[in-house]
Amino acid sequence: MDRARRLVKLSSDTRDLVERRAQGSCEYCRFPQSASILPHHVDHIIGRQHRGSDDVDNLCLCCIRCNLKKGPNIASIDSETSKIVALYHPRRQSWREHFAVGADGSIRGVTAEGRATVQLLDMNEEGRIRLRTLLLRRGWRP
Ligand SMILES: [Zn+2]
Repeated sequence: MDRARRLVKLSSDTRDLVERRAQGSCEYCRFPQSASILPHHVDHIIGRQHRGSDDVDNLCLCCIRCNLKKGPNIASIDSETSKIVALYHPRRQSWREHFAVGADGSIRGVTAEGRATVQLLDMNEEGRIRLRTLLLRRGWRP
């Protein structure tokens, strides 16, 4: 079944917990929900089709753009090594150890997992960089 049609049915307590834990920002690109027209999604880090659970440890707050690009993927190819690597895991890994934001608004993966995730989630699409640049000018820091 199409992932988009299988949106997670969550209790409001679970959604609140996921949002609070993420401090209201996408856990992949750090885009703040407060700057988004539509609410962020609650994403299964490891999708159900990969036997990922509905446990809060497998959930993250995810902007719509990251969620649509991520889909059910759990791995991709690192552009530097051409090796298959797992995607960044928001519960098990530190964002700052895997990503950096440039003054131009781009997000750079600084590890194999970071690079694969930036590329798969298309984090540096022109419109996303434009939005991030505006946020940076307004004092946003990831
Ligand atoms: Zn995002």
